[in-house]
Amino acid sequence: MPIDATLPYDETNIFARILRGEIPAKTVYEDDFALAFHDINPQAPTHILVIPKGAYVSWDDFSTHAPDAEIAGFIRAVGHVAREAGLVEPGYRLLANIGGHGHQEVPHLHVHIFGGRPLGPMLA
Ligand code: 5GP
Repeated sequence: MPIDATLPYDETNIFARILRGEIPAKTVYEDDFALAFHDINPQAPTHILVIPKGAYVSWDDFSTHAPDAEIAGFIRAVGHVAREAGLVEPGYRLLANIGGHGHQEVPHLHVHIFGGRPLGPMLA
């Protein structure tokens, strides 16, 4: 079920639990600002999720409330993970779902990195 991205941050969400090490994830990268791990239900040969370490529900509260250093660190981490995964050439796709119409299911901001095959035109 998609979430309401205007709700307060829920510390029990699955990605908060991954960040706390309470449940396992196949981590590919970690730094002060971000954690990256393989999606449990991959939709492409490479499907990695990158999440900020701070408690942000979606791109909306992240882009309004996160300190500049966290925003810069997170964006740099996304690029680094894609580069390290060998996706820059031939290319890849970034996606962030936000709220109900965006069909966001996990209420902790995450950017999907898809790659490893031609992804076709973007879906509306
Ligand atoms: P959303 O629709 O919120 O943008 O996508 C959530 C993503 O999180 C989905 O692609 C789903 O497969 C992934 N996911 C959900 N639960 C887990 C989990 O426990 N571990 C991992 N690695 N991915 C998860």
